Amino acid sequence: MIKIKSLEEIELMRESALIVSKTLGMLASEVKPGVTTLQLDALAETFIRDHGAEPGFLGLYDFPNSLCMSPNSQVVHGIPNDTPMEEGDIISIDCGALKNGFYGDHAYTFEVGEVSPEIKKLLQVTKESLYVGIREFKVGNRVGDVGYAIQKFTESHGYGVVRELVGHGLGREMHEDPEMPNYGKRGRGKKFVEGMVVAIEPMTNMGTHRIKQLKDGWTILTADGQPSAHFEHDVAIVDGKPEILSTFAYIYEALGIESDEESEFRQKALVL
Ligand code: MG
Ligand code: MG
Repeated sequence: MIKIKSLEEIELMRESALIVSKTLGMLASEVKPGVTTLQLDALAETFIRDHGAEPGFLGLYDFPNSLCMSPNSQVVHGIPNDTPMEEGDIISIDCGALKNGFYGDHAYTFEVGEVSPEIKKLLQVTKESLYVGIREFKVGNRVGDVGYAIQKFTESHGYGVVRELVGHGLGREMHEDPEMPNYGKRGRGKKFVEGMVVAIEPMTNMGTHRIKQLKDGWTILTADGQPSAHFEHDVAIVDGKPEILSTFAYIYEALGIESDEESEFRQKALVL
């Protein structure tokens, strides 16, 4: 059952989403060669608690850490470890926070030092596909419209759209209805209505869309060992239109990147 949120609840969800956004912004300056994903996980846990929230992933379905850390050919759900990151790696960081009873959940794939032009393009296309999908999340459209748009855009660049893992409704639970696949058919699936909040999260493989899972029961990798990227925003429908509750602005501030990519999805100016 889809749980519709009131405007007051959406404001609480924005608060949770922005704690995740700030956490990712803090991590942006720390992602560099020689640093381990366990070190970043510890920084994130402290940061989230210092902001009056609980790490959203820690203990969820028995996940052992605060961040999912998925380098290179790992798609999602990687477990932080003590292997130092290397120049040219990418690291997908997925972060959750729980405050006032509501979850925030979003993700960004970071470059470690200088990465190859092919990998830069994978990241850029995956992030762009996220906005292509968000644009379709509006009253009157359906779940399949978002998936169709993301899949068409992604495959036009020759990349693989992961099928087995999907976006989701978000609220008092991390995973609510509806499921939000990154593939689909136009006009199919549940209809979007005012007050829905979802996490839209394309997971894009440079090669085949096929995946496999490590014996740890968590880590998802590409079947062909090629890199994979993951970007995720929390989005509400307000006045019939998509309103992004999370932001990459803290990341861009830390990395010195200029971008107005989120402005079309924001009804009020963002005050950092
Ligand atoms: Mg996530
Ligand atoms: Mg999610």
